[in-house]
Amino acid sequence: YDSAVKYINRGSLEPFTRKVSYKPGDPKPVNACIVVLARNHDWRALRESMKQMEDRFNHRYNYPYVFLNNDPFTDEFKNMTRSMTSADVHYGQIPVEHWSYPEHIDQEKAKEQRKKMHEKGVMYGESESYRHMCRFESGLFFKHEIMQQFDFYWRLEPGVQYLCDINFDPFLYMKERKIKYGWIIGIYELMDTVPTLWDSVKKFVKTHPDLIPEHNSMWWVSRDNGTTYNGCHFWSNFEIADLSFYRGEQYTKFFEFLDREGGFFYERWGDAPVHSIAAALFLQKEEVHWFDTWAYYHPGWQHCPRGDAWIQNRCTCDPDDRDKTITNADWGKCSHEWALLPDTPLEYRKA
Ligand code: GDP
Ligand code: MN
Repeated sequence: YDSAVKYINRGSLEPFTRKVSYKPGDPKPVNACIVVLARNHDWRALRESMKQMEDRFNHRYNYPYVFLNNDPFTDEFKNMTRSMTSADVHYGQIPVEHWSYPEHIDQEKAKEQRKKMHEKGVMYGESESYRHMCRFESGLFFKHEIMQQFDFYWRLEPGVQYLCDINFDPFLYMKERKIKYGWIIGIYELMDTVPTLWDSVKKFVKTHPDLIPEHNSMWWVSRDNGTTYNGCHFWSNFEIADLSFYRGEQYTKFFEFLDREGGFFYERWGDAPVHSIAAALFLQKEEVHWFDTWAYYHPGWQHCPRGDAWIQNRCTCDPDDRDKTITNADWGKCSHEWALLPDTPLEYRKA
């Protein structure tokens, strides 16, 4: 991993740093939003996330927030979140058909499977709501009415931290470079949650060869040419993406196919492996960006840069933290391996 480590530790400032600011309500160079899925009781943890989001980034850019919930938001939630930002805020309820069982799902079987996964000790194995959440985040959040006006989104969760200043507009950065998907933490999946996901992916590839570009990023998720899934995925609690990626034919068919397979309910397929495998199938390395100069913590792991970026961006995380910083851990090999993914040969480049 020497070259990958050097890549991570190169310590340079973003060459594309461009200081700009926009006021709330100003037209932005990109129609983008910060999207938050949350329950009413999440407001306290969300204020912490918003405090850092605003202080580290959004007080200069004022991108609007979109809050989504399967229940109606309470006035308390609205007041406690609205008061954290000067930017526009939108509150939306998720339509029931995006948070319930599709007709083809055998709910008795789903219940038995939850029980089995719980007995096996699988994380969230018993939870029904977690499955609706994963399915919604996989293929439905961008269909919400409020989301229709936006071209890009940044996903924010309650209880996460941004530990360096973010001095450029990632939406503009991505749009200018035709980057479709941005991530910070790459990690291995708990394979008990997705035992047959890869079989379904293989079936999809077989039935839709026309949708798979000749050169993609498959190597990152499968080292044996598609036979098995190595579990690598982008941790989707942070992601910035171009919504046209999800709204296009490839992803639409991919999600519909997976949804019919039933694994969101009979297993516990997460939106992280689903988004990540889609990115690996449909995107080239150049269309995916690792925001490796940023610092981000979600309970369990953090990413923390080194060098000049750490000093100049006023970072407060510890890159050498053995327990938290994922690039120091075996679990974080996926990130290093992304850096080792060869560039797309010029003759195959889309972007
Ligand atoms: P983890 O990161 O996988 O441990 O899962 P989280 O508990 O952080 O949930 C992921 C995201 O979905 C967070 O933004 C939660 O606020 C949100 N979430 C989880 N379950 C529900 C739910 O039942 N309803 C709503 N509205 N949001 C949920
Ligand atoms: Mn979370």
